Amino acid sequence: MLQVAVVGSGPSGVYAAQSLVQQDRVPDVRVDVLDRLPCPYGLVRYGVAPDHEKIKSLQNNLRTVLEHERVRFLGSVEIGPGALPPARLLDLYHAVVYCVGAAADRRLGVPGEDLPGSYSATEFVSWYSAHPDAMPAVGTQGGFIRDVDSAVVIGVGNVAVDVARMLARGAAELLPTDMPDAALGVLADSRVREVSMVGRRGPSQARFTTKELRELGALPDTDIVVDPAELALDPAYADPSGLPAASRRNVEVLRGWADRPPQGLPRRLRLRFFLRPVSLTAGATGHVALTRFERTLPDGRGGVTGSGEYEDIPAQLVLRSVGYRGVPIEGLPFDAERGTVPHAAGRVLRDGAPSPGEYVAGWIKRGPTGVIGTNRPCSKETVMSLLDDAPALERRQVLADPLAGLRAAGGRPVEWPGWLAIERAEAELGHALGRGVVKIPDWEGLREAARHISG
Ligand code: NAP
Repeated sequence: MLQVAVVGSGPSGVYAAQSLVQQDRVPDVRVDVLDRLPCPYGLVRYGVAPDHEKIKSLQNNLRTVLEHERVRFLGSVEIGPGALPPARLLDLYHAVVYCVGAAADRRLGVPGEDLPGSYSATEFVSWYSAHPDAMPAVGTQGGFIRDVDSAVVIGVGNVAVDVARMLARGAAELLPTDMPDAALGVLADSRVREVSMVGRRGPSQARFTTKELRELGALPDTDIVVDPAELALDPAYADPSGLPAASRRNVEVLRGWADRPPQGLPRRLRLRFFLRPVSLTAGATGHVALTRFERTLPDGRGGVTGSGEYEDIPAQLVLRSVGYRGVPIEGLPFDAERGTVPHAAGRVLRDGAPSPGEYVAGWIKRGPTGVIGTNRPCSKETVMSLLDDAPALERRQVLADPLAGLRAAGGRPVEWPGWLAIERAEAELGHALGRGVVKIPDWEGLREAARHISG
């Protein structure tokens, strides 16, 4: 029997588990999917926007894998310093596949980045997604948007589109989601009227996908505002025929908005381009009040150069949505520049040589790019490497049941019935609030719910 630990229960981890149990090269594979949270599904639960119900429903596919007879979910198991070190984990299993994603944010590196009122998009996403780590940072009172009428979102990727859309959504649209009650109340009472989403390059280099972009145009109370003169700074705007299909479609959607006069709706979402952030400045209260951008110009090679001209956008909330960054796990090698673990076809490299039994998949392997489905082939490649190595790996003696080893190392894993109890508690919470399922936003609430496994 080949015993494998997968660290992380987001899409890449679950797809790795699925590939391991749905192959017949190595017949008896047992997989423990570990997660530091008592809840599975990673960014599908804690990153996909609450109003994207269809993508969220992917949880049902992931659930089928975690309920497979040779797969076991073990939540509340942390790997790293002060917890279970990678070397100790590898003692318990023949192989370990790290699918830990990219938990941190890229930095802007400009003055004022950390002023009150300036947050990473991830902090905002974690808050409305009920991630238990978000609570200590912002509390339940929604400090994010109190007294905010204008917001700036820096970056033009899909996360920027998500957070801009959530800022523009009204109470009626948020009510059916599983958003925690406190976040729902704060967003429903929001006085945000103006959101500017700002890209440092042109519309043809924007990273958002067309489906997500188009969705902005369907927001019921929001005018989308684009300046045709700004779009025209992009040489591909006049003739997008040479662009890759995805970029061409984006440009065409933006052109449609440029041609349409604003309807006088209560909110405005401005899509801005060729502006790179230079600094954030505080107002009299010490809170961010102004973001300064430098106008950029296309350099003809897909990049931009500065123009020496500046524009200040006033806003009391700045969400920096400039991408994720992998976080090193102490005891595993790490490429700090790329924010990934060095690997060859998923095999972790230590000093350039494959480290027997250690693998990576997902964002910690290839960087924070691609949509959920991108993880399927990525995890499969890693599992193919693992299966090639299996005859050698299986020679090493490990415990018959690694769970005993995890417990002996001080862990108190939350098993599948514990997660089902959390699900039940979230359904009951929603029922009590007159809503559908409502997520529990704090560690204690999750732990308490997980203890009621008999109900
Ligand atoms: P992303 O796609 O990498 O976009 C990052 C954005 O930040 C880009 O516009 C980038 O501009 C900009 N940026 C980076 N550094 C900057 C700086 N110093 N100053 C100003 N702008 C800067 O990252 P993401 O939006 O976080 O998304 C991560 C991944 O998750 C993506 O693959 C995305 O498609 C996926 N995702 C998908 C969905 C969905 O399918 N619905 C939802 C959310 C996320 P440059 O291009 O100029 O670098």
